[in-house]
Amino acid sequence: PPDVEALGRSTWTLLHTIAANYPKSPSYREQSDLKTFMGVFSRLYPCWVCAEDFQSYMEKEQIRVDSRNDFGTWLCEAHNAVNTKLGKPVFDCSKWEERWRTGWKD
Ligand code: FAD
Repeated sequence: PPDVEALGRSTWTLLHTIAANYPKSPSYREQSDLKTFMGVFSRLYPCWVCAEDFQSYMEKEQIRVDSRNDFGTWLCEAHNAVNTKLGKPVFDCSKWEERWRTGWKD
């Protein structure tokens, strides 16, 4: 079976990096591709408990794909729901772009 932690870290990297490179003003096609991708992702993610909970999350909290910041913030909140479930610290979603796109200022 897959290593759920290593898989999770690499998957969050992929998903947040997709958000960081998603257009600020996406076309209709880009919005519909992202919705399709995330729907299929939630059914194929090879940690079945994770996938089940993520599908329920997506049913409750409708995905937002209108802009980079809408999707980045939605995804950050989705990741925080998993953090909370696992007892990990909640991430400050005003900083998602600094973490995943522009890099931390030090
Ligand atoms: P991760 O949670 O993997 O985070 C990686 C990095 O992302 C962090 O170091 C931090 O810099 C940054 N980060 C943290 N929170 C946020 C945020 N909210 N927004 C933006 N950036 C952030 N594991 C389970 O055991 N049970 C589950 O049900 C489960 N469900 C999952 C569902 C999905 C869709 C995914 C992708 C993963 C899931 N995982 C689950 C894996 C789990 O979320 C972690 O990836 C894994 O436990 C490793 O955690 P980590 O502490 O290395 O950091």
